[in-house]
Amino acid sequence: MPATAEEYLPGIKWDEPQYVTPGEPHQNAPSDATILFDGSNTHAWNNAATWIIENGCLVVGKGMIHTKDTFGDCQLHLEWSSPVPADGTGQGRGNSGVFFGPYEIQVLDSYNNKTYFDGQAAAIYKQTPPLVNATKKPGEWNTYDIIWSTPRFDKAGQLTEPATVTVLHNGILVQNHFELLGDTPFNRPPRYIAHPPDLPIRLQDHRNPVRFRNIWVRKIRPIRGKQTHQPSLRDGQKVTPLHQTGKN
Ligand code: MG
Repeated sequence: MPATAEEYLPGIKWDEPQYVTPGEPHQNAPSDATILFDGSNTHAWNNAATWIIENGCLVVGKGMIHTKDTFGDCQLHLEWSSPVPADGTGQGRGNSGVFFGPYEIQVLDSYNNKTYFDGQAAAIYKQTPPLVNATKKPGEWNTYDIIWSTPRFDKAGQLTEPATVTVLHNGILVQNHFELLGDTPFNRPPRYIAHPPDLPIRLQDHRNPVRFRNIWVRKIRPIRGKQTHQPSLRDGQKVTPLHQTGKN
């Protein structure tokens, strides 16, 4: 976005995320994943008519696209590539974004492209920078592996559990169970506005032809168990549990 008078400024002077050269992670979708984009079609998305598929990649078109399905707690994998040649500066260079509802994990060409650190690639927009800068050169493929926990609200709309996010960028930990302060708009501080736990995943149109590929998601469901015997040692000695099972 261009600098404008209404831009929200968090007022925090962040240290610059150190640059780390990534390795070469590559992932195919696991068997239980929901495929959101495999290079062939945009059937999983709404509003994708102007997003072009080119050589198996999805190129940003006009307006944000959002999944037809909705997701709460989930594991999302996607790959993105910044335009070549690099064009523009700061927030105007290779800008897109991965949104869980109103919460953005930034996509930006942050290879030799300075901007505010809480707005660079893999930042939680205007909330925190990534732990390090793992961005690859324009034209090369970046991976995001995101573990998302959706926020919870009570019936009165009060927040009971904030959203948290863990992000691996090119296999490197860049967000470690970060607790979000609220949504991530450009022009005001973050705040939580009550919503259902499951929302569409969205990809941002920021007027830069960023490319995406290999997008899949797994809904995270708690593993279930049933107490069928008193806890004991294998020889039959009774054991007093320290605590009952947690929220799982
Ligand atoms: Mg963005």
